[in-house]
Amino acid sequence: MIFDEYSIKSLVRPIPDFPKAGVTFRDITPLYQSPRAMRMVADSLIQRYVESPITHIAAIDARGFLLGSVLAYELNKPLILVRKAGKLPADVISETYSSEYGDCVVEMHRDALKGGEQVLLLDDLIATGGTFLAAARLVKQLGGNVYEAGAIIDLPDLGGSRKMQDADIPTYTLCAFE
Ligand code: AMP
Repeated sequence: MIFDEYSIKSLVRPIPDFPKAGVTFRDITPLYQSPRAMRMVADSLIQRYVESPITHIAAIDARGFLLGSVLAYELNKPLILVRKAGKLPADVISETYSSEYGDCVVEMHRDALKGGEQVLLLDDLIATGGTFLAAARLVKQLGGNVYEAGAIIDLPDLGGSRKMQDADIPTYTLCAFE
């Protein structure tokens, strides 16, 4: 299926002032409700990484899980969960960061990586980049390397993808809203 950026973008619904005043929330539920669009998104990401040296996929709570599980299944790679604080049951490592919504903590199980892995980070969207950067620090804490951070949407005006470039973390997104 040929990737059509226009139809992907048309299925991302802007919700003004959610979850707080001044934030335009980019709602991807219409995209997930379209099997054709989801197949386009999944196929594009699968094509990009099928020949890559990634060894693990780390998916970010919660919408990143939806993409992460499809890619982990198709690429036959282990799936690691990066979760909001207090959700993972075993021994965890943590990183704190600031986002559009305030201060947040993400966690990963301490035994998720052993060191030397090439990890693909996946989420639905890059805004300020805080979440991906914190997830990358978790991977590094455990001795892994972030191969790339992949998402459906970039919001370049919020500066996240630029910040990640400055931190030497390659990013890949399928579309952007200026
Ligand atoms: P950030 O850490 O600022 O890059 O924010 C990225 C994370 O927060 C992702 O998990 C997104 O799902 C969520 N997020 C942040 N801003 C938005 C937004 N404007 N619309 C939808 N999701 C957002």
